[in-house]
Amino acid sequence: MVTGKWVVTSAWPYINSVPHLGNMIGSVLSADVFARFLRMMGEDVVFVSGSDEHGTVIEVEARKKNVSPVELTNSSHEYIVRLWGLWNISFDNYTRTENEIHKEFVRRFMLKIYENGFIDKREQVIPYCPKDKIYLPDRFVEGVCPYCGFEGARGDQCDNCGRLLEPEQLINPRCVLCGSTPIFRKREHWFFRLDKLEKNILEWVTRHDLLDENVKNFTKSWIETTGLAPRSLTRDNKWGIPSPFPGSEDKTIYVWFDALLGYLSATKEYFAKLGREGDWVRYWLDSGAKTAYFIGKDNIPFHAVILPALLMATGEPYVLPTIISATEYLMYEGRKFSKSRRVGVWIDEALKIVNNTDYWRYSLIRMRPEDKDTNFKWSEFVRFVNNELNDHIGNFIHRVLTLIYRFFDGVVDDARLTGSADLEFRKYVDEVWNSYKSLMYRARLREASELIVKLGERGNQYINVKAPWAKIKEDVNDVKNTLNVGFTAVLTLGVMLYPIVPQSSKKILEILNVREERVVIAGHPIELVKLPHKINKPEQVFTKLPQSLVDVLLNDFERERYLERVRNELNNERPEVLRF
Ligand SMILES: [Zn+2]
Ligand SMILES: [Zn+2]
Repeated sequence: MVTGKWVVTSAWPYINSVPHLGNMIGSVLSADVFARFLRMMGEDVVFVSGSDEHGTVIEVEARKKNVSPVELTNSSHEYIVRLWGLWNISFDNYTRTENEIHKEFVRRFMLKIYENGFIDKREQVIPYCPKDKIYLPDRFVEGVCPYCGFEGARGDQCDNCGRLLEPEQLINPRCVLCGSTPIFRKREHWFFRLDKLEKNILEWVTRHDLLDENVKNFTKSWIETTGLAPRSLTRDNKWGIPSPFPGSEDKTIYVWFDALLGYLSATKEYFAKLGREGDWVRYWLDSGAKTAYFIGKDNIPFHAVILPALLMATGEPYVLPTIISATEYLMYEGRKFSKSRRVGVWIDEALKIVNNTDYWRYSLIRMRPEDKDTNFKWSEFVRFVNNELNDHIGNFIHRVLTLIYRFFDGVVDDARLTGSADLEFRKYVDEVWNSYKSLMYRARLREASELIVKLGERGNQYINVKAPWAKIKEDVNDVKNTLNVGFTAVLTLGVMLYPIVPQSSKKILEILNVREERVVIAGHPIELVKLPHKINKPEQVFTKLPQSLVDVLLNDFERERYLERVRNELNNERPEVLRF
């Protein structure tokens, strides 16, 4: 089997809040589904991410609570790690920006590109709040976007047009902490010479066949409209990685650059923990190695421009992004998720509302905003679980397996197919499997999940038409053929479900008597068994959400009362910094 080396990553969550469902589908869950798929295909995968814990947001929060920043991030990091476990996220290494390997790595990396002439010192105008007496980080200044006129643009980026900004570009700037007008002071800072790499980035993006259109278009339009300007790389705050450049001792590295390099340092740390220190370079510098990034669309500039530019600036043959899967936004019942207005569901709450990780994983993948913004609706959640997973998929699986168990003592035999319905459905299974594979390799996860539902639906139609229960007396051979094809379809479904709903898939494969520690598919799922093959006693893998719960979830008033109760209970379990 030809396999390759992959580093799969998800954007590093900033550690000052619990991720909500939109964050989850935009990064960690999508990356997990992709990593699980690759492993199943026999690829050599390292799946990494970590907590982004530096920067002024945490520094200000810590000052307010009168604790040290690291005390804050210790407790929230621990809590978030526990949540990844509950959501079955299969990280090989989930680390944090405070780990020593990372800090050392960032300093060395930055010095290298400094020596290569890609960093220089410039004067920069920095907003300073006279009332709060601090230099304000970019996102602590808000005002009107100079490009599109959007009122609530932040000093680092406009949420409306997606452009990266500098705070002094904002019209009518104000401090988000106290509302006063900041003073702009001249400070010396170190800049990354993005401008020197403009041509290389444009060339790379243009020639890159696997990049999604939204990523390509954004990057090209950025370069064509404003060009790539030098970007400041250091900050005046204390909580971060000390800047390594001569004369910059009182500065830290801007969190964004810090977190981006975490993809590399987390791989390095992973192999160091295994006692194979040098091996990480094979995943980042070998010519055949591949990297995949799962991010929200607001992160495109950092992953499609700044990260590849940093890698290019080293002069070493680092692997540039193979896949950048940037999702659009998930809305919540037609509104934007908002912590301050309590609009949305957060990932710890979700499991208290409906305690089934697979149901959440499945529903989120089904609503993954791949091409346009999508909307989380409770009615859709109920439909995905009750109609799709239970009626279409689960029901088909259970029907086939109980028939095999009832008529043939659980034994599936080889078959010589001649009937057109059998041949046609068997061909359909193969087509679905092939399309699924190619969509998954391109990280089109929602599109691939569509095929799972279709296979379940078509499977039920096939069984209805063949009606094996009516033929068992007159034509045993035909029933054998039907259940042979049905078995192939069920096995294929069980395998296709694995990346999305790993626990349920494991149950299906157990019933199918496929007992491998780690399922690896060479060509087709059917290769996992040798006919004749005996299955175990079937049982229902999925169950519907109870009607009493559905009634609550679909009634706006009842649901809000229920969610409020769950939230109040949960708030006590959260570390203080993560409470609402
Ligand atoms: Zn704008
Ligand atoms: Zn202020």
